[in-house]
Amino acid sequence: MDFYEKNGIIPYINAHDTYTMYGGSRMAENTLQAMKEAAASFVDLKQMQIQFGKKAAELTGNEAAYFTNGAEGALLLCACICIAEDSEYYYRKLPEILGTKREFIVMRAQRNAYDAALAVSGADIVEIGDADETLEMELEGSINEKTAGVVYFASTLYQRGSLPLETVIAIAKKYNVPVIVDAAAQLPPKENLKRFTQAGADMVIFSGGKTLCGPQDSGVIFGTRQWIERCIRFGAPEHGICRVSKTSREAMAGLYIALENYVLQDEEKRDGELREILRRISERVAKIEKEITLKIIERGPVGQKYPRLFCYLSEKNSSEKIVSFLKKERIYIGEDRINNAVYISPLNLYKEEADIVAEVLCKALEAE
Ligand SMILES: *Cc1c(COP(=O)(O)O)cnc(C)c1O
Repeated sequence: MDFYEKNGIIPYINAHDTYTMYGGSRMAENTLQAMKEAAASFVDLKQMQIQFGKKAAELTGNEAAYFTNGAEGALLLCACICIAEDSEYYYRKLPEILGTKREFIVMRAQRNAYDAALAVSGADIVEIGDADETLEMELEGSINEKTAGVVYFASTLYQRGSLPLETVIAIAKKYNVPVIVDAAAQLPPKENLKRFTQAGADMVIFSGGKTLCGPQDSGVIFGTRQWIERCIRFGAPEHGICRVSKTSREAMAGLYIALENYVLQDEEKRDGELREILRRISERVAKIEKEITLKIIERGPVGQKYPRLFCYLSEKNSSEKIVSFLKKERIYIGEDRINNAVYISPLNLYKEEADIVAEVLCKALEAE
């Protein structure tokens, strides 16, 4: 019997995406094995951070790296080390801010559910621009002695009102202000692991529990040696505000192996597997007699490079009804309410699960 069922929980099939709400992603056997082995012995956690950070940086073509308990914990740590400047005393006092630096500049067009972590540090968020446009002079004009950093959400969709990252970096550099890039979900392609650091960002954040398929409570900051040294100096296991987001040795071990798997992965082959999953589903669904339009969208929800299958419904059907039908059958799928469509991400589906999703989706579509 399944572990969850034995304990009174019925699991779902995740055809929606790598959402934390459902558990994110699945770890590979060797990742789980590494976590098990890491759990068996005691180590100096700080030494482990330094050593595995070094290895992760080499692996991904970055200058330095630091493991966190997730992208959200990483955002908090990045914010804190910017505010604390180089003072351990300042850091220990957070969220009470003793220094001058206390503002993070964020574009309104990029505000998202995750940037609350910045405010946890005690800092203020200064918004610039609007949904349509952000002007260079707004960024330049809002930088002052209180500016602790500029935070950039690296989604490649919804960038309508944003300045390009390169522009933001160029302006921030002029005033010696660090740029933090939240690229939590920006994989694939794997080249993104170094793309934003190469563009000149000081700290770039990835979630470990999404497409990287590491532990759900893991994340990584890639950055310049100077900033990563500060992460090591102030971050957990040290006491202070970021102790709320400590990283276990098991999570570090798991994320490191997940990164190795990811870097070694044949991207084309993986893409083929994802398409095969979607092909199985669309072939089955295309057979039903209801009016629907099936379409492969070549991007993930924040512009990542992987395919999703969209199923546009006729007026007689509603996406809400289909989603709730599937949910009752313990299947999560996505909903695009504006276009009255439902969609399937192949990222977390085994073939057998894809066949179940196809069957149940057909049933839902044919139900009156
Ligand atoms: C998922 C996500 C996070 C949080 O990642 P965790 O690893 O779950 O903490 C932060 N920012 C963005 C943009 C995300 O998509």
